[in-house]
Amino acid sequence: MSAGKFEYAPAPESRSVVDLRSSYGLFVGGEFVPTADGRMFKTVSPATEEVLAEVTEAGTEDVDRAVRAARTAFDSVWGPMSGRDRGKFLFRIARLIQERARELAVLESLDNGKPIRESRDVDIPLAAAHFFYYAGWADKLEYAGFGADPRPVGVAGQVIPWNFPLLMLAWKIAPALACGNTVVLKPAETTPLTALLFAEICQQADLPPGVVNIVTGAGATGQAIVEHEGVDKVAFTGSTEVGKAIARSVAGTHKLVTLELGGKAANVVFDDAPLDQAVEGIVNGIFFNQGHVCCAGSRLLVQENVYDEVLDRLKRRMATLRVGDPLDKNTDVGAINSAEQLRRIATLSEVGEAEGAERWSAPCELPDRGYWFAPTIFTGVTQAHRIAREEIFGPVLSVLTFRTPAEAVEKANNTPYGLSAGVWTEKGSRILWMADRLRAGVVWANTFNRFDPTSPFGGYKESGHGREGGRHGLAAYLRAGNPKEAARA
Ligand code: NDP
Repeated sequence: MSAGKFEYAPAPESRSVVDLRSSYGLFVGGEFVPTADGRMFKTVSPATEEVLAEVTEAGTEDVDRAVRAARTAFDSVWGPMSGRDRGKFLFRIARLIQERARELAVLESLDNGKPIRESRDVDIPLAAAHFFYYAGWADKLEYAGFGADPRPVGVAGQVIPWNFPLLMLAWKIAPALACGNTVVLKPAETTPLTALLFAEICQQADLPPGVVNIVTGAGATGQAIVEHEGVDKVAFTGSTEVGKAIARSVAGTHKLVTLELGGKAANVVFDDAPLDQAVEGIVNGIFFNQGHVCCAGSRLLVQENVYDEVLDRLKRRMATLRVGDPLDKNTDVGAINSAEQLRRIATLSEVGEAEGAERWSAPCELPDRGYWFAPTIFTGVTQAHRIAREEIFGPVLSVLTFRTPAEAVEKANNTPYGLSAGVWTEKGSRILWMADRLRAGVVWANTFNRFDPTSPFGGYKESGHGREGGRHGLAAYLRAGNPKEAARA
């Protein structure tokens, strides 16, 4: 074999497990209903541009109906229900996600473009794990450290992005429901289908009508949810720009808000790191999910004396990445989620070249149809370059160097963001020294992009505020029974 790829026969996952409808209504009050004042739009497979289904673009009247359904369910059923009984519903949902995992994984890969290996092995199992984890909390909230008698907030309005559609839904819905809130959730315009299948799962679980409402649509639908006065809490994941607009719109209202926004994480490789493992971590850090990851390790900081060796190994590894059909089980890197996102990635990459950085892309054949971008690295990047400062949200890595640990910290923290960071070194003491100084919500040591429902996740600075996951993730969905105890928690 040459230095290139092994030849594999195609190993496509079957689509037959997915039963796509030609069009979808809104999920309000436990039923799929037609729009009162909205329109329809199409959702496509980004790998082929094939239209998958027609979906409803909810208008303000639809959003109002969904918020009212959520309020009724909160007042009459879900709020008064014992935590033990709420927990049973969450366990049931978790088990149904597991039972229908293959269907969900195929649908996610079709609608989002991510490799089936990732939707099957990461997104869907983690989504189920979030429901299992928060199901366990539902009857133990008084021991969570938020007062003796913590109360739900009420109706949560939740707006999520397209990069991990079902997983972000689980991050939002599982803790909200466990704490006794009801929800109105809007999936992203380009990836609504697994949220609609989740609505069917809610029906299958006999979840009381109105506890979960799914309204599809674009930015205006999200805005209508955020601005609705019947919403008590807003939870948003997406771009920093929209996050800032949401913070402005809820300022001065009764609404609580958590924001999980962008990132430009540093992945720091010291000269004593196990380099082969570090290269795997670099690849996982930036090419997992096509780099559509808010905590992606998009800035590689390499200690200068191992720079040549790391770059050499990284390029060799990148040349083996298999880019193509998301439903093929051999695929490592799938399609870019939308034409718009592809344009954004291409534009910022052109800016990188124009600013003098050197571009190298993995040799690979890209399919003719659909939205594709070859895994790419930029070397000769300085901190002033836009590709070192702005979130590209694609398979594009900016490589910088450093000499001393202090310089690594200074460069890593030189960003308006602070969501995550990675450190690669053999020395435990250095890991702790770095973790103390890195201004990032998550610091991974000798690994990257690891997620677990028990572990809190969230940002510093412009990466947002509030935490999701773990015990901390409950705080956003509870009003303290005893404020003094809550302050100490
Ligand atoms: P957005 O922030 O626009 O989208 C996130 C969600 O918010 C979507 O459901 C979106 O709807 C909705 N939305 C858009 N405008 C509003 C509004 N005014 N009020 C309430 N909700 C709104 O991200 P984009 O999809 O436009 O991506 C743009 C860039 O953002 C990406 O290139 C990437 O850099 C970054 N991004 C970062 C993410 C992260 O997790 N850090 C996630 C997604 C994007 P709709 O889908 O219809 O636009």
